[in-house]
Amino acid sequence: MSLLGAAEIRELAELLDLRPAKSLGQNFVIDGNVCQKIVRVAGVTADDIALEIGPGLGSLTLALLEVTSNVIAVEIDQRLADRLPITVAEHKDSDYKLTVINTDALALRELPVAPTVLVANLPYNVSVPVLLHLLEILPSLNTGVVMVQAEVADRLAAKPGTKEYGIPSLKASWWAQVSGAGSVSRSIFWPVPGVDSKLVSFKRHETPGDEVMRKGVFQLVDAAFAQRRKMLRAALSGIFGSSAKAEAVLIAAGIDPTLRGESLLIDSFCAIYNASQSVK
Ligand code: SAM
Repeated sequence: MSLLGAAEIRELAELLDLRPAKSLGQNFVIDGNVCQKIVRVAGVTADDIALEIGPGLGSLTLALLEVTSNVIAVEIDQRLADRLPITVAEHKDSDYKLTVINTDALALRELPVAPTVLVANLPYNVSVPVLLHLLEILPSLNTGVVMVQAEVADRLAAKPGTKEYGIPSLKASWWAQVSGAGSVSRSIFWPVPGVDSKLVSFKRHETPGDEVMRKGVFQLVDAAFAQRRKMLRAALSGIFGSSAKAEAVLIAAGIDPTLRGESLLIDSFCAIYNASQSVK
């Protein structure tokens, strides 16, 4: 089966009269080898049901279908969603199942089948919300690799105490262990983007609590980083009513109130949440 290269991508774009929209992060991969590498890094097997967000012209979709015969593709742009089955049929024999859903990934609530792996070159302006949303609504997603803007990849995989560590790192770590998985050259895209890209991989783990707790913990995380330089007792004073109350909760949780959010793992935010339920 052939993959899409620069010439095919341009032909398809011409055929569809497509001018890549920056607002939709439409930078298409023109190098089939890179797509195969992403699928390899994701560890996709024949048993997987793969979910791809933003299949675009189908570069990564075709690489996925070399390994698994079951792919669900969610694409916001109707022209691209309508064309994808045709492109795939032109490149592949009939022993596969491709489900194309023409919608905004952020509006997804459920899927017809439960995907096991996420592989996507995510639209850069919504990559973090899309990833967090999918982890929330699709508990069957065990693993995945996504390509995102380099800075976003660094933030998602950051460790406490670094300048990259913050809301994306903490919220992603509620659901999964996230790691950097390599850089990607700008030259493999058409059009060439103005930013560098990286891969991040994730492996789902058990969440530290239920949905009620997650919402409470995420509220604490948002408050702790609303003003990053503030000590926790000041940053959380709004949530707890005063800095004295925030300090009492932090002490009950065994956390130094003069620390900043950037030094805490998600477990510590869970401890603060649990303490807040008993210290009134
Ligand atoms: N996967 C293709 C590739 O690697 O060549 C295209 C990737 S391109 C970076 C991002 C794709 O996501 C585009 O096809 C774009 O139309 C689509 N997209 C943008 N926002 C979206 C959203 N909110 N939900 C679903 N698809 C979206």
